[in-house]
This record gives sequence, C-alpha cells and structure tokens, in this order.
Amino acid sequence: MDILSYKCPNCSGTLKFDSQIGQMLCEYCDSTFDPEVLKKYDEVLQEEASKDPDWDTYESDEWQDPNLGVHLCNSCGAEIVAEETTAATFCPYCDSATILSGRLSGALKPDLVIPFKIEKEQAKAELKKFCSGKRLLPSLFLANNRIEKITGVYVPFWLFDCEAEANITYDAKKVRTWKQGNYRYTETSHFLIHRAGKIGFERIPVDGSEKMDDAYMEALEPYNYEEAVDFATAYLSGYLADKYDVDAESSKPRANQRIKDSTEKKFAETVSGYAVVTPRSTAIDLTDGKIRYALLPVWMLNTKFGGKTYTFAMNGQTGKFIGELPISKGKYWGYVAGITAVLSTVGLLTVFL
Ligand SMILES: [Zn+2]
Ligand SMILES: [Zn+2]
Repeated sequence: MDILSYKCPNCSGTLKFDSQIGQMLCEYCDSTFDPEVLKKYDEVLQEEASKDPDWDTYESDEWQDPNLGVHLCNSCGAEIVAEETTAATFCPYCDSATILSGRLSGALKPDLVIPFKIEKEQAKAELKKFCSGKRLLPSLFLANNRIEKITGVYVPFWLFDCEAEANITYDAKKVRTWKQGNYRYTETSHFLIHRAGKIGFERIPVDGSEKMDDAYMEALEPYNYEEAVDFATAYLSGYLADKYDVDAESSKPRANQRIKDSTEKKFAETVSGYAVVTPRSTAIDLTDGKIRYALLPVWMLNTKFGGKTYTFAMNGQTGKFIGELPISKGKYWGYVAGITAVLSTVGLLTVFL
C-alpha cells in the first residue's frame, strides 16, 4: 500500500485514502486527490537527476612564432603578446609605463580570432565625441593627448558549445473562487507540469582575462561570431593580445551557470496560464561540450584620476562603446549594468508534455 505515503501537494500533510469518496484526502487542508494521478505525479518526480556536465578537456598547440614578443606589466602583471615590431609603451589595463619586453614562452595559440573592423582613427573620433561637452574632461584627456593612448587589444575568450537536455517539473496552481449564499468557496487545482527538451548552445563566451573587468566585457557584447576566422599571427599586426590568465578549466563553472540559467528561462516561458508556478525539480544534462580559445577585438583606454582607474572600451567589431566618467558615474554605470549578456545562438527548443 505505497499510496499511503503520499504527501499533499497543497500543504505537504500526509494523505489518507478515504474509502467513502474513493479519493486521497488531506486531513489538514481537506483537499482531495485521485490516487492514480498521485501515482503518476510521484513517478515523474523520481526520474529527475542531473549528471555532471560533459566538457572536453581543452588542448591546444603552443604559440611558437619567432616574430612574437611578450610585454610584461611590472605594475599589474598583465602579460601581453604582440609582434616584435609593436612596442607597448604603457599597459592598456592599468596605464602603467613600466613595461618589460621578453620572449614568448608557453602561451597557447588561439583557435579563432574576430579581426578588428573599427579602425583606430574611428575609435579615437568616437572617444572625442564621447568626451566633448563634458565639463571635467577637457583638462584630463584632450590637453594631454590622452586619446592617442587608445590601444587595440585582443581579449582572450573561451567559447563553449554544447547540447543541453533538460527535464524540468513545476508545481502549478489554478484558483477559482465563487460565492453561494453566505459562503465563499475556493477551489484550488494542482498541476504537476513536466517539460522536457533539448537546446543547442553555440559559442557561449567566457572572458579569460582577469584584468578585463567582466561587467565591461559583458557590456561590450554581443560579438558577431559568424565573422570569427582561424587564427593567424598576421591579425595581430599593430595590436596587442592579452594572454589568458583564467584557463578553460576554471571557466567551465561560469559557462555551466550561463547555460543553466538560459535553459531554465526558456523552459519557464512555456509554462503559462497558472496563478502560481514553482519549479520543483530541474535536471539539465550537458553533452557534446566543446571548448575553443578565441581573441576578441577591443579598443581600450585606461586612465587614473583621483586614485581611481577609468576605463573606456569599444567593441572593435561593432563599435559599441562604453565608458565611465568621473563626473557622471551613475549614468554610465547604469548603462553598463543594464545590459545583460545575450547568447550568441539559441538553437531550436522542442517541448513536449
Ligand atoms: Zn493538505
Ligand atoms: Zn598593467
């Protein structure tokens, strides 16, 4: 008599079979339930359990190119790769001038690169436009030719591809009330909703640079990954490339979280028409996980003012521009925070009940 152990979906009290009405009855809240329905309800709930995400271990070739050198910032520790002919005279991250040059060793060669599309002159013009009319800025930037210091940096990114197979159940309620004579009646119907389906994710970006502020980098998204090409050293010409300091392994939890959040959101959108919906159990299995290492173009200017570092950054592909000014913090931080990262591609979502 396993049905005796069912719990009331309404109040979690223990249900007992009432032979008079032929239903399971809750002694606490007086709800009644069909025993067959409860049995099914339990079966669905038993099935769910998530497995560990199935990601490849990232392997890549080392970057061995006699024409490449490495610049090391003495102040913040940034390690930047560039052609030997590209001299870094200051650090694009902390604005420090204490840069050491050395030989490249042990760096991973990127798989993909999105080449710069916005030219330096265009980036400088945008920055000038951004600064103009802002009262505090002329002395800070324009007088010292600071805008000349704008640097093209390829920021390292891990791109995650995978399939997410999800089984999600929700408890839902519909409530109906009516009046009859001196009584008000409330009828609550309980639903166990089950959604199962697959979503394909492509190129979910996770920033591989500790020095590049995540909020800034996410505000610069999206990039158009269709324009990503196989990496070749030639794309570096005139630009700097940051060496990743967050490896693929440590970026996995962030990718997992982004995939999980997006999957849950997409599935929840399919449950509508109820007064209350509460997720009950979620099982998301990630399979076919592939990781690639890519460089994304960013124009950057970092500058110190009143003991604080201010960053201006521009998406080197789309021209999207973000920045924070000493006089209008609120406004620009609001802008940065208001943008949430968007998945590059969300595949077909199939849902069946
Ligand atoms: Zn109850
Ligand atoms: Zn630095």
